[in-house]
Amino acid sequence: MTAQILHTGRDIEQFAAQAEKWLAGAVPERWKNNRGSLSGHDMDELRREWDFILWEGGYSGLSIAKEYGGQGLGLAEEIIFHVLAGGAQAPDGLARVGKSLVTPMLIKSGSEQQRAAYIPSIMNGTDVWCQGFSEPEAGSDMANIQMRARRVDGGYLLNGTKTWTSFAQHARRCFVLAQTQPDAGRYRNLSMLLVDMKSPGVSISDIRQISGAVHFAETRFENVFVSDDDRVGDDGDGWGVAMRVLGDERGGIETAARYVEIRSDVDALVAALGDNPRYADRIRDLDIRTEVVRWQLAKIADLEAAGDEKRFARAGGVMKLMWSELWQDIARLGVLEVPPGRQEQHWAYQYLESRAVTIYGGSSEIQRNILSERVLGLPR
Ligand SMILES: Cc1cc2nc3c(=O)[nH]c(=O)nc-3n(C[C@H](O)[C@H](O)[C@H](O)COP(=O)(O)OP(=O)(O)OC[C@H]3O[C@@H](n4cnc5c(N)ncnc54)[C@H](O)[C@@H]3O)c2cc1C
Repeated sequence: MTAQILHTGRDIEQFAAQAEKWLAGAVPERWKNNRGSLSGHDMDELRREWDFILWEGGYSGLSIAKEYGGQGLGLAEEIIFHVLAGGAQAPDGLARVGKSLVTPMLIKSGSEQQRAAYIPSIMNGTDVWCQGFSEPEAGSDMANIQMRARRVDGGYLLNGTKTWTSFAQHARRCFVLAQTQPDAGRYRNLSMLLVDMKSPGVSISDIRQISGAVHFAETRFENVFVSDDDRVGDDGDGWGVAMRVLGDERGGIETAARYVEIRSDVDALVAALGDNPRYADRIRDLDIRTEVVRWQLAKIADLEAAGDEKRFARAGGVMKLMWSELWQDIARLGVLEVPPGRQEQHWAYQYLESRAVTIYGGSSEIQRNILSERVLGLPR
């Protein structure tokens, strides 16, 4: 079974068989049977519950070292588990940012005190985190961040606005990039700070996406105190910390979740249009590109196991570009060509949702810039 999902050098058949068995009994029935009719609030509750079920079952933080409360396995197991969980119709937990971005960030760049204070409550699903990088005037040009963190006794006072902050409505904490040294040059003026979202001075306004979903928000910080203990790395090291976070964001876990969705949508296209020769070439093309994403997942799992960070980061960028544009092409064919009465709502939702994927985590244009400069060595 797993050999069909991930052709990797590692032996993960036994893990996959156990996970599949566990998933069959663990996914809440009321999610499987009613997911289409659940309110946004009920869905969020279930997603939180799922984080807790994962932790109780020993499937939280699969690729995180045991000493930090994870399972001490690798990215290959994370990917396989995501694919199997998708097949078992499991919900997507709310602790995603905490597990895939914050925990690796604290392990690579944080202090022992920060790891002890924050990782356990991420692993057991208690605390949701969000990522505060983008601002109204700083998205692709992240070095242009304007949020200020002014030095005060024992820490900083944070002022400014972040936008498109996914999960902000649920988050207990946020990791933000802020200017701590306004007079230092570009890239050397930023620090990464961990903010308690319950602090006085934090306010959140929902932003509704074109699909109708409310996944993100505008988040304002007015004289919010952040202690020195909650700075990740040295003052002025924020840019380097943020670059490592972006590497993880483009890496395997997010793609594994998307692969499940893409594979299932291609299968749905085959079911709806496969008999019509008019669509044969287009469906074959989408199917082949989906398989290439799967191969790329296997490659990235092997690079992670080999500890090859440089090639891992490059492969992550290529993969983000591949799956995001593929998903848009699949959804476009679905919304335009699948006959009325056959999952119309599904295709409309997928089409609108997929508009976002070539923007977040670095837009396609930015990914192409990075690949052409850093991988192909082309001039700027
Ligand atoms: C669903 C979703 C969730 C998100 N979640 C988060 C989150 O949790 N936390 C967070 O901090 N941010 C989040 N973002 C924000 C996301 O990271 C930014 O939208 C993204 O980095 C682009 O920035 P921008 O929106 O300011 O667009 P801009 O940077 O203004 O770009 C506008 C257009 O210009 C192009 N462009 C810009 N610069 C160049 C260049 N140098 N060369 C070629 N083309 C260029 C871009 O590709 C884009 O097409 C999210 C976004 C979405 C859509």
